Amino acid sequence: MALCKDLEKRVTATWHELVANLAVVALFAAIWFQLTDWLDDQPRALRKLAVGGLAGVGAIGTMFMAVEVAPGVFFDLRAGIISVAAFFAGPVSGIIAAAIAITYRVLEGGSGVYAGVFYISAAVLIGWAMRVGARSPTPSSIWLVNLALATSVVVLATALLLRTSVDDAVIREFMPPTTLLSFVATLIMGLAIRKGRMVVRERRILAAALAQTPEFIYVKDASSRFIAANHAVARHNGFTDPRQMIGLTDRDITDKEHADRLLAQEQQIIETGQPTLDVEEEEVDDYGEKRCFRSSKVPVRDRDGHVMGLAGVTVETTHLKRLETELIESRDRLSLALSEMSDGLAVFDSMGYLVFCNEQYRSNFPLSAHVRVPGVHVNEILRECARTGEQVDVPQDDVEGWAERVGSLLRIPNVVTVELFDGRFVQIRNRPAPNDSSIVMVTDVTDLKLAEKALIEANADLSRQASTDALTGLANRRVFDETLARDMARCGRAGTPLSLILLDVDHFKRYNDTYGHQAGDECLVMVADAIKGGLHRPADLAARYGGEEFAVILPETDSEGAAAVAERIRQAITAASIVRIGSIGTRITASLGVAEYNLDTALATPADLIRDADAALYAAKTNGRDRVVVDKVDNPRHRLVVNNKPGG
Ligand code: GH3
Ligand code: MG
Ligand code: MG
Repeated sequence: MALCKDLEKRVTATWHELVANLAVVALFAAIWFQLTDWLDDQPRALRKLAVGGLAGVGAIGTMFMAVEVAPGVFFDLRAGIISVAAFFAGPVSGIIAAAIAITYRVLEGGSGVYAGVFYISAAVLIGWAMRVGARSPTPSSIWLVNLALATSVVVLATALLLRTSVDDAVIREFMPPTTLLSFVATLIMGLAIRKGRMVVRERRILAAALAQTPEFIYVKDASSRFIAANHAVARHNGFTDPRQMIGLTDRDITDKEHADRLLAQEQQIIETGQPTLDVEEEEVDDYGEKRCFRSSKVPVRDRDGHVMGLAGVTVETTHLKRLETELIESRDRLSLALSEMSDGLAVFDSMGYLVFCNEQYRSNFPLSAHVRVPGVHVNEILRECARTGEQVDVPQDDVEGWAERVGSLLRIPNVVTVELFDGRFVQIRNRPAPNDSSIVMVTDVTDLKLAEKALIEANADLSRQASTDALTGLANRRVFDETLARDMARCGRAGTPLSLILLDVDHFKRYNDTYGHQAGDECLVMVADAIKGGLHRPADLAARYGGEEFAVILPETDSEGAAAVAERIRQAITAASIVRIGSIGTRITASLGVAEYNLDTALATPADLIRDADAALYAAKTNGRDRVVVDKVDNPRHRLVVNNKPGG
């Protein structure tokens, strides 16, 4: 009973001592936490050694506070420290820590030495194993719990080893607090160290980002003294280390005027609590180059909301400013070129909306100029063109369809010339441009168009002159020859007849001699008009054969038809002469010879036909003039005088 009482007392004391042990563990964790930053800067080997050493010393610390459950048998939390060291710093640190702890334990001696050595070695292995496990994607906190559990298991295993040298009842009493506290101590240590490492890592990333960014980042106190600055700020102001700037103000690093301006601005932020954003500044550097900066400064407040300083970011914008200036200059140059060019120019976007146009483009279309402004659709412009009648030849019954059609041409390279209401002609050229837009160029081609028109007319005149007789306007001899040959061949192929009339003005020499050559010419014009009036078919051709002789080619016409035409002409001449020259007491008549070419004489040449017509004409002359004689070449019996009575 006394023994029991004694054991109970010792168990209570053990709880106290193990809690003190926990304090050693906490101290170890706190020191490691504090050293994390420093350790991170050390070479790898030194880091391993330092952590190993620290953990070894920590383990010895727990052994100082150990509970001696039996002579030479100690219970403490050393396993936690060693497994945590192996877990975070790796097997090398774990082994160093274990070596230190084992050395101390062996020197301490007692019946539990072997169990103690096992306890320490197992802790290293557990820490290492969990470290390997933690490389998996499972969250590291799970592995910390595993580490704490495994460390507790080591405590249990060690207790089993001790059963040979320690009473079972004692082990039963001491095991629960030792195992439980081992678990708690390992877990707390692990979480604390992990937290410390995460904080350091985050701070380092932030520090690296601040140090490496080209932007100037700084924090100042309420008196505009630098509290912190990144490397860019330090370098810019000629310092090698940002720490050299702490405590300085702008008065210490820039000229007074500039510094005063900055201070005034910053004091205003401090007083009003209002940030200043995107403030542009210029500065001339040591090489005399102008440099541009853009700064934003925001107030920094304490927990109560009082402004205690400011944080600022300054970006160098020299390069951007230069680009901006170049852009403005090139835009000005371009718009000057566009406004000075003689052509109209417009740009439409991919949807057909006007994006840009110069003044010439609008002035080319005065009636629709008011809708030729950016943002208006091409179809709307075209509709206005049609409505105002600015462009001629717009189908007024289908303006919508026309606008659609012409508008869709924007996307296709093409050139059109359109006539405008005021007689001008403009050439419109479309060309697709990058990003699906279209460029439209408008050139006034009125002069060109008029010159072209004049040229066409002159050409037509020339060819008329080459084919017509200047006095009478009838076809000339050349055209007569060509037409006769062509028509004879064609009728020969078609098997249709063709007739020729030759006409000679009677006693014309006398007329000429009496009334003069001028009057004679006028008379010939009268005869030509009479001949023209006597022909009704488009295929008939009247020509001046020479002097006062005329010829008429009548395709698809037999001699009977031709005789009728000839007679009509003869009467027309007589009638005209009565009206035109009857007053001078004389008359003009003509003799006409008709010849037919038909299938039976298919081998006849134009010369044969002329000869036959001439023969008929001769017959008309010799038979008293002012008459028509038909010559039937193939059948001389048919040679007949159609009209043998002058005027008849
Ligand atoms: P006919 O034919 O009835 O036998 O008598 P003619 O006096 O008309 O005789 P001919 O046909 O030989 O006359 C030709 C005359 O026509 C000669 C010339 O005085 C006249 N003549 C020919 N060519 C022209 C011309 O271009 N202008 C004028 N004014 N007279 C012309
Ligand atoms: Mg004649
Ligand atoms: Mg004559």
